[in-house]
Amino acid sequence: MPVVKVYNLGYDVTTGIGELLHTTTVRHAFGMIRREVANPVELTILEDRIIPLALELTRELSGAWVEGAGQRSVGFSFRAVHERDHWNCAYCGRSVSKTPACEALLATVDHIVPRSHGGESSWLNLVSSCKECNNRKGARTPMEAGMDLRFEPYDPAHAYRVGGQVEALPVPAAG
Ligand SMILES: [Zn+2]
Repeated sequence: MPVVKVYNLGYDVTTGIGELLHTTTVRHAFGMIRREVANPVELTILEDRIIPLALELTRELSGAWVEGAGQRSVGFSFRAVHERDHWNCAYCGRSVSKTPACEALLATVDHIVPRSHGGESSWLNLVSSCKECNNRKGARTPMEAGMDLRFEPYDPAHAYRVGGQVEALPVPAAG
């Protein structure tokens, strides 16, 4: 799959000049288009499917919106994962709590890639989950369990806000 370039608002289609912010995956690019965070400015056809190669943000990103800019990390804890995910289950979207009305909605932290598969306890591998979804998923990946993530986890030190939506800045590829 190709890498999608994300440009700040003001990308010039005719000259191809713009402020390149970062690159992202095709999957994430479709999410940004769906949420109206960005519009495609360059498309291609791959395996009979139209996919974006470049996006332009629908709002101009200013430095002031860059969350945690210059910070190496944001204090990591299971509680901080729940705060980041607004205490919503990543699988069913219901509100979770440490003191829920019913046990199914107890706030748990799910390892997307299970620890038994080598999954780490990190910002990008942990999400808020209700106890019911966490139990159903068990030691499986979301794909194995047939469960979709309603949002993608991000590292708050590598994220910025666009119109209330948080967009992850992918960690630069090694090498
Ligand atoms: Zn749930």
